[in-house]
Amino acid sequence: MKDLPARRLLLVHAHPDDESINNGATMARYAAEGAHVTLVTCTLGEEGEVIPPALAHLAADRDDTLGPHRVGELAAAMKELGVTDHRFLGGPGRFRDSGMMGTEQNERPGAFWSTPVDEAAAPLVEIIREIRPQILVTYDPDGGYGHPDHIQAHRVATRATELAADPAYGTGAPHTIAKVYWNRAERSVVEEAFAHLRTTAPDAFPGIAAVDDVPGVVDGDEITAEIDGSAYAGAKTAAMRAHATQIAVADEGPFFALSNDLGQPLLTTECYQLVRGVSGAGAGAREDDLFAGVTEAKTATAPEAGAGTDAVRGPASGSASGAGPDSVSGPASASGAGA
Ligand SMILES: [Zn+2]
Repeated sequence: MKDLPARRLLLVHAHPDDESINNGATMARYAAEGAHVTLVTCTLGEEGEVIPPALAHLAADRDDTLGPHRVGELAAAMKELGVTDHRFLGGPGRFRDSGMMGTEQNERPGAFWSTPVDEAAAPLVEIIREIRPQILVTYDPDGGYGHPDHIQAHRVATRATELAADPAYGTGAPHTIAKVYWNRAERSVVEEAFAHLRTTAPDAFPGIAAVDDVPGVVDGDEITAEIDGSAYAGAKTAAMRAHATQIAVADEGPFFALSNDLGQPLLTTECYQLVRGVSGAGAGAREDDLFAGVTEAKTATAPEAGAGTDAVRGPASGSASGAGPDSVSGPASASGAGA
């Protein structure tokens, strides 16, 4: 049995690059602080558009090798963030990128969007029971901006959270995740950052995006936690640059564009909305630590095989023996109450 760090954070994302854009600074911070950070990416992002002309041949309508290429981009990004536990849901390539809403790729066999939620949740339950995270970060029910894979990632993460806690489900000791957060961005902060982009680097990209193009934008009163990632801005920026087929980072400042060539701010203060569990901050105050209020006195035990650092290892090998009787002596009971 191998000990995991006392604090364990799980993030569930749709495609390689989403984690760096949404949570890069948060991931870098907790990795640097010695927490166990686990990223689960649901698809390889095979249907993404490719920005660099020299790599255009990777695209789904040409060589269709973008997925494997993005496995490498994600590994490079995780290196920048200091995150060693990153996995693809069900193993790399198990679920395919579903493309934008309304496209024929949505219904293609094996597409993440067309997979029943419980089927896709099963391998995530195994990971949850292996890692026993106190914190889960994922998208809101709209996936932040309506992409089918992001919506499905929300559904799968939410369902897996329920099933992992259910003693009657599957094998392995049940685990209750103490706190669940949705990714958010604060409207007033985003507006200000767009104004900064317009005045300091108006020509960095062919166009400029709109505030509502930023996933998860909400008014400030919906935000319950704010991670000041300014110390990790460099790591986040480097991680985003590693996703070179998907992201163009400006040289002029904290700005980037996706394949639509529309500039938007690169935010290093990352915001969250607590949707399950008890806030560790006072009434009306924002948490500055996702683990606030979570008991962390005990160290988890997990099987040796489960704590590897293999970039493309699926969860099956790690979780097959993941639930010996000892698992129940882990921190779940201590942290399950949330505060
Ligand atoms: Zn995405």
